[in-house]
Amino acid sequence: MLFYTHDDCLNHEMLPGHPERPDRLRAVNESLSASGLSDGFDCRTAEPIAADGLATVHDPAYLARLNSVSPASGLLALDPDTAMSPGTLRAAALAAGAVTDAVQEVLNSSDQRASRRAFCAVRPPGHHAEAGAAMGFCFYNSIALGAAQALGQVDRVAILDFDVHHGNGTVDAFRDRPEALVCSSFQHPFYPYRYVDIDAPNIVNTPLPAGTDSAAFRHAIERDWAPAVNAHRPDLILVSAGFDAHRDDPLGGLLLNDEDFRWITEFIVDLAETHASGRVVSALEGGYDLAALGRCAVLHAQALGGGL
Ligand SMILES: [Zn+2]
Repeated sequence: MLFYTHDDCLNHEMLPGHPERPDRLRAVNESLSASGLSDGFDCRTAEPIAADGLATVHDPAYLARLNSVSPASGLLALDPDTAMSPGTLRAAALAAGAVTDAVQEVLNSSDQRASRRAFCAVRPPGHHAEAGAAMGFCFYNSIALGAAQALGQVDRVAILDFDVHHGNGTVDAFRDRPEALVCSSFQHPFYPYRYVDIDAPNIVNTPLPAGTDSAAFRHAIERDWAPAVNAHRPDLILVSAGFDAHRDDPLGGLLLNDEDFRWITEFIVDLAETHASGRVVSALEGGYDLAALGRCAVLHAQALGGGL
């Protein structure tokens, strides 16, 4: 399995005590290493996405504004939850570049089964970033950028998002592009309160009340996502892999356990085997309890690799 990361993703910092902190990425990479799983990875060092790549999803004026306000020192708050440090834009460009490069390598992998899956251990997350707005700890929408890159080469993609928060930025990117199916499960009512009632055939929202447990989560995913993906027949599946729906997460109010993250990954891999020649590119989104994040990232990567 392909594995993308970069140490400079640790250099994006927000206020002390902010849950989206560099230790999250350390927890993921140290857990993957301690499990022995990463010994079998085909490791790649992420490269920053090019400016024209960013423009496939984001407004030029938004990109120019981010560049112009990027601080040389200290922090600049873009919203109450989201601040830029001197290392932010490079970290975000590496996160997006990891996903777009992973998409390219997976699409090029026609005769190499082991290169049909990729996991991108990166930060900042991306799925709240809309075409023209940073929000919710996100700047560049990495998974949307990866999907946009794929759509230059394949007919249809599916983006599956199991973060506890709705993937509003990804919906914003593809609400008028039916070639991309976007399925998002999320706690509701809950941040970001955007696009919850959108009525578009390629947007599948699965709102879940606080307190939703494993059985109800699995039932909702099978009910909503399986028929949508089977009807869409994607050539590639992209995954917004957030682990903040875990019961130990300090931000989310859902009650998933470790095994639910193995389960949903196997569910996604099965869909990819049916429709997409097994091709899956997954990127880290949320997950704020370091212990649960580390354990669940291991289960996710293990199931994603699936013996490849
Ligand atoms: Zn989240």
